[in-house]
Amino acid sequence: MLSRPRSTIAEIARVFATLSLGLAVTVASSVTAFAQSVPVVRDAEIEALVRDYARPIFRAAGLANDGIDIVLVNDSSFNAFVTGRRLFINTGALMMAETPNEIIGVIAHEAGHIAGGHQQKLRDQLERAKTMAIIATLLGAGAMVAGATTNSRGLAGAGMGVAAGGGEMAQRSILAYQRTEETTADRSAITYLNATGQSGMGMLKTFARFQSALSLSGTQVDPYRISHPMPQERIANLEVLVKQSPNVGKVDPPALQQRHDMMRVKIAVYMEGQAAGSRLMRKMQGTLAGLYGDAQSTYLYGNIAAALAKTNALIKAQPRNAYFQELRGDILMKANNPKDAAEAYVRAVSLDPARSGLLPVSLGQALMAIGTPDSLKKAVAQINNGLGRDKENSIGYRYLAQAYGELGDIPGAELATAEGHFYSGNYKDAKIFAMRAQQQMKRGEPRWIRAQDIINYKSSGKI
Ligand SMILES: [Zn+2]
Repeated sequence: MLSRPRSTIAEIARVFATLSLGLAVTVASSVTAFAQSVPVVRDAEIEALVRDYARPIFRAAGLANDGIDIVLVNDSSFNAFVTGRRLFINTGALMMAETPNEIIGVIAHEAGHIAGGHQQKLRDQLERAKTMAIIATLLGAGAMVAGATTNSRGLAGAGMGVAAGGGEMAQRSILAYQRTEETTADRSAITYLNATGQSGMGMLKTFARFQSALSLSGTQVDPYRISHPMPQERIANLEVLVKQSPNVGKVDPPALQQRHDMMRVKIAVYMEGQAAGSRLMRKMQGTLAGLYGDAQSTYLYGNIAAALAKTNALIKAQPRNAYFQELRGDILMKANNPKDAAEAYVRAVSLDPARSGLLPVSLGQALMAIGTPDSLKKAVAQINNGLGRDKENSIGYRYLAQAYGELGDIPGAELATAEGHFYSGNYKDAKIFAMRAQQQMKRGEPRWIRAQDIINYKSSGKI
């Protein structure tokens, strides 16, 4: 499930952002706002799909063993960027892309930046970020003044001229600065797409969209456009490369396109609201993705019994789809039926090809809700299982602490709380809880040692 209905995701988010970004912040919408918080969203289905998009590309780029994490950002604008060993992608970008190929192309371009070591040049990057912040301000100012001129001429009109002129100048200097890196990343992207037998048309389509004047209209400017200036010449060069490729006419496999459609409709329904969900569903009418969106929308905004019936129909159509089982579990939790929810989550966990750490945590929550001593013990095992796969899921530690608490294991609860704070980047509280946990533990036992690790941790800003 996606973040909205439970409090989980947005909370993980803020924290997660502070973890490792530090100075390595690169391209972002308004750079200052970005540095403070990136609203990360977690979702087993979407994470698995984007990883499936990225895996062959990373392999072709020689990055397969670099352990690059993919992080979804809850933001409806188009953006994708790399910091350190994390690739960030906005949900807005995933929703705007009509085909997997469009996203794969953007990932290929970003992989080109990683493989080219472009992110290592920290000082350059910071310089760039500063300039981009100025640009963002200028673009914002330009849009505001443009609004004013519709009612009056004179001063406001003059102001717009000044703002636009300044923007152009700054933009020209950015273009010169970035040209080499962007050209390199474009060429690398084509190499990776060719090596994996995929077309560059999606990348071209995406970039051409940013090149068009249209993306400058309105009040919202997509961050990707600001960080990736698309001069006509660059698009033209890219077009030549794309069309030379023997893969130019290749399209995504239908099964992948279907997963992509299901992802888009999920983002629309959960993140953009009921109306946006309905709009997209109308375009997908009669398809499995359309029915999926309908079931999710019914779960979030409608009738639980109807949502369950619709989800059961989906499961009938694709019995081995882990995320349909997950949705069934979510619905049954909302219906206050944790026993059946747990059964659905058990199936979701066993069917999930990506072995997401999120699903065992959902199963653990259902087992906690059953509330017997036996199910609480099982809950602890499942949540630990999930955290073993995904130790940065700081919300998981909250449930773990609660389960330990209900079992009367207070030091266990304190240590889980310490871990949650630790992976949230909140080292001060992590140490406080680790010390409290230690007071009730035997010196030298494994849990005591883990608590000691947290106490000894020197925060360098990176984990
Ligand atoms: Zn780029």
